[in-house]
Amino acid sequence: MQLNFSGLRALVTGAGKGIGRDTVKALYASGARVVAVSRTNADLVSLSKECPGIEPVCVDLGDWKATEKALGGVGPVDLLVNNAAVALMRPFLEVTKEDFDRSFSVNLRSAFQVSQIVARGMINCGVPGSIVNVSSMVAHVTFPNLAAYSATKGAMTMLTKSMAMDLGPYKIRVNSVNPTVVLTAMGQKVSADPEVEDVVNSILFLLSGRSASTSGSGILVDAGYLAS
Ligand code: NDP
Repeated sequence: MQLNFSGLRALVTGAGKGIGRDTVKALYASGARVVAVSRTNADLVSLSKECPGIEPVCVDLGDWKATEKALGGVGPVDLLVNNAAVALMRPFLEVTKEDFDRSFSVNLRSAFQVSQIVARGMINCGVPGSIVNVSSMVAHVTFPNLAAYSATKGAMTMLTKSMAMDLGPYKIRVNSVNPTVVLTAMGQKVSADPEVEDVVNSILFLLSGRSASTSGSGILVDAGYLAS
């Protein structure tokens, strides 16, 4: 399925590595102008070389004030991918307050904050939009040592539905993609399987008009894991 995002501006968080980086490249190849948001500047520099003309924004999305400063004036955005996350693996009894707060501020609160900024812009411009939250299979099924991470992804399910409900009247759709383990830097910490490309394809489908009647929903990219 060839998707065309010409004339649209997309913002991708966690754009420096893994799924976010490949999503930027796929959107760029499909004609979108892309704002690439990530934390490590070297990643954004190398990404800008691969995709000349993208707009890099270097910020720690776990820092509310810094995020407001970096993205508050980002201007019109049609497509948003909330992808940035950290997977802090600890046994439940060893999770610290810092682990918990960092997990929620990066994985959930930043999606909340960036979506508010972007959705306000969409509403002001009177344009429709599509937002994809990159969640995880762990919103549905548990694995050892991922209590804080899994809690952020479980909460993301209800955030996605709530945003879909509140933003639907403005023609802004909100969905999630819920991958199983994929072999990015984060994925290698846990175990193995599908291709990053499979996840990116589902993100692009939900961003596109091909999924025009889908909102408040989620696509599992789990190689059938939950069916077993
Ligand atoms: P990676 O660790 O490969 O990449 C994450 C990207 O997000 C990096 O560029 C990282 O930058 C950036 N990032 C992390 N924290 C921040 C922050 N505070 N501010 C700005 N940028 C930040 O992760 P994946 O590509 O594997 O994961 C992407 C998404 O997919 C996540 O939401 C994850 O939960 C989800 N997912 C991943 C799975 C997997 O197996 N890989 C499975 C299921 C879901 P930096 O490195 O500089 O910190």
